[in-house]
Amino acid sequence: MSNAADARCRESCGSCGAGFAGGRRIVSRDYVTGTRFDVVVCPSCGLGWTTPVPADLDPYYPRTYRRYNPWVARVLNRLYRWRVSRWCRGFAAPGSALELGCGDGVMLDTLRSQGWQVCGTERTEAMAATARERYGIRMYVDPDGPQPGEDRFELIVLFQVLEHLADPVAALARARSLLADGGRIVVGVPNRASWQAAFGSGDWFHLDVPRHLVHFTPASLAAAAAGAGLRVETVGHISPEHDPFGWVQTILNRCAGNSNRLTLLLMGATRWRISDIVTLLGVMLVGPLAVVLAAASWACGRGAVMEATLVRG
Ligand SMILES: [Zn+2]
Repeated sequence: MSNAADARCRESCGSCGAGFAGGRRIVSRDYVTGTRFDVVVCPSCGLGWTTPVPADLDPYYPRTYRRYNPWVARVLNRLYRWRVSRWCRGFAAPGSALELGCGDGVMLDTLRSQGWQVCGTERTEAMAATARERYGIRMYVDPDGPQPGEDRFELIVLFQVLEHLADPVAALARARSLLADGGRIVVGVPNRASWQAAFGSGDWFHLDVPRHLVHFTPASLAAAAAGAGLRVETVGHISPEHDPFGWVQTILNRCAGNSNRLTLLLMGATRWRISDIVTLLGVMLVGPLAVVLAAASWACGRGAVMEATLVRG
């Protein structure tokens, strides 16, 4: 890789501390740069770690990462709002909510419309400005977020964030320190123990190396949570915005060498070519199957992503 001198190879698990000797290794390729990365699986707790870890991840994020074209974005926003209303169900009354890595702030905007007081964090000032300007949300730039003792939150959300962090246990411990008594942390991450991951292996859409630095199973998430003084209360798998599409892209990758080209097209990160008609035919062919597989995997607790609620252990 071009920045090999800056890359760090992992030697032991950042969650339980076990060495990787004898652990499984999944070979994958970044679909943006074509660079090879491996996922080494901890033989003790089962957490997967991307290796090597680039010192600078910016070259691996396309300019349009997660910026889908308007009709895709509209569908996603609908589904996100449905998801947020599910988070609220377990609370007797709205309280104070924090989303770590809140993107454009659509989740927090929905929570606020249901009576919650909200604030969010993002990695850079530019990213924080997007949520501030679009929805008028109180934003912090990491790591200068809310400090323990300054603010406490009944609901803390890490939605599709934890897998991007080099030290997920530290991130969970920080969230725990900001949790109000009786509060709850919602964590949404891809599920490496899913049927989709087993079918896709290194071609699995949600493996997404090197942007995803850690790869959870229900058991390894529980172990990481325990390391941060938290315990898992519930785990769910229903994810209409991630799972059927993940099946379509993973099947196209595995059976037709698509290398996430469909995703790049939907993000506007590449131009359409005449040969993409094959990709579109593939979508029509496997789309209905993908919906059936997704629904069956949810019913069997083997969905491609999982959403866990964590409480103080
Ligand atoms: Zn481990």
